[in-house]
Amino acid sequence: MEAGQLEEAYDVVIVGAGAAGVGVGVALRDAGIDNFVLLERYVVGASFALWPEETRFITPSFPTNSIGMLDLNSIAVGSSPAHVLGVEHPTGVMYEIYLNAVAKHYELPICQQTEVTDVAERAHYFRVTTSQGVVLTRNIIWAAGEFQFPQIQGFTGSELCRHTATIPSFSALEGDDFVIIGGYESGVDAAYHIAQQDKRVRLLDSKCPWKEASSDPSVALSTYTRERMYNTRFRKHVELCADTEVETVRRDGDTYEVIARNGTTYRTDVQPILAGGFVGGLGRVAHMFEQRDDGFPELSEHDESTITPGLFLCGPAVRHDNHVFCFIYKYRQRFAVVAKKIATSLGLAAEELEGYRDWGMYLDDLSCCGEECVC
Ligand SMILES: Cc1cc2nc3c(=O)[nH]c(=O)nc-3n(C[C@H](O)[C@H](O)[C@H](O)COP(=O)(O)OP(=O)(O)OC[C@H]3O[C@@H](n4cnc5c(N)ncnc54)[C@H](O)[C@@H]3O)c2cc1C
Repeated sequence: MEAGQLEEAYDVVIVGAGAAGVGVGVALRDAGIDNFVLLERYVVGASFALWPEETRFITPSFPTNSIGMLDLNSIAVGSSPAHVLGVEHPTGVMYEIYLNAVAKHYELPICQQTEVTDVAERAHYFRVTTSQGVVLTRNIIWAAGEFQFPQIQGFTGSELCRHTATIPSFSALEGDDFVIIGGYESGVDAAYHIAQQDKRVRLLDSKCPWKEASSDPSVALSTYTRERMYNTRFRKHVELCADTEVETVRRDGDTYEVIARNGTTYRTDVQPILAGGFVGGLGRVAHMFEQRDDGFPELSEHDESTITPGLFLCGPAVRHDNHVFCFIYKYRQRFAVVAKKIATSLGLAAEELEGYRDWGMYLDDLSCCGEECVC
């Protein structure tokens, strides 16, 4: 669909055509919902296209679909990034290709270059203002992601640092002596790629993520990341600085000083790299959700706002109790839950969605989550 072709009224508007938006779009199709649209401010998979070129998926892809197990990075039953791309750990640009293949195969109605700038709640519908005009809808699925909303605050002088989400390529970075603030997935990824160029890295974290014991990759480093920490160049060039909470970054001429609460100061002539995560992209609809104590939106059992009926959330910001749905293989299990709730409200039985259960794509009983590996 071309921008400017928006219909006036929809049953559902999906905001964002990333992994979550495209995935839940397929679930709406399978639920028998026709009158919906995806609004995407750039292009399908835009966030993935913005990843540093060396960064790869930490979750592996494998075409296990033939024995009834969905590829970990798939967002739709019947599809597999491993099959489409022929790689186990896709780059962001590769995954963008996969998302476009899914959107095309399912003929999803997507308006690209269409930014949602305001959402207003009316009696039984929402008025959605976009860069291409106004649309009305009975339901909104917010799937605007996190990547385009980096956390660039948190300590004095953080604006002097460069967030990993703004780095097109680690090999293009100038300098030989790097300080990275944040030692979880993005920080270790940056350290790994910089170390491959035989450059010095000091990796700072307020805790010690490298020793976290949990078997849940939402809590501890993934296997892929831990394995890369055994790499010879990583061990040679990367100094791990645990229990090092950064308090201040300041600049004195050509030198950056990174000052930690424990009294240590790290000096470098290279702009420090910030790997502190993301603030989330709720933006214009943040006030339409109640907030949990940890800042994440409070959701009903159908991932609907508890204070704004008809407004749903899909993607890595979904939380239920202490369950974190930040990976694709986790939050994709909630697409059918959202699609079913909306379909039911529209008088549709959405029986086809029941088939999602066989694929581990329909998680409506959260009591099974949180299991730790015993060995
Ligand atoms: C470096 C890195 C590595 C990762 N590796 C993995 C991994 O190995 N496995 C895994 O499962 N997950 C991984 N993740 C997490 C995964 O990338 C995210 O969970 C995923 O991108 C989230 O998808 P999304 O659709 O919610 O968001 P996005 O992909 O960011 O999509 C949101 C879309 O919404 C659009 N948008 C935003 N605001 C508006 C608006 N106002 N109007 C219209 N459109 C809007 C954006 O342009 C974007 O296209 C990784 C993340 C990072 C940063």
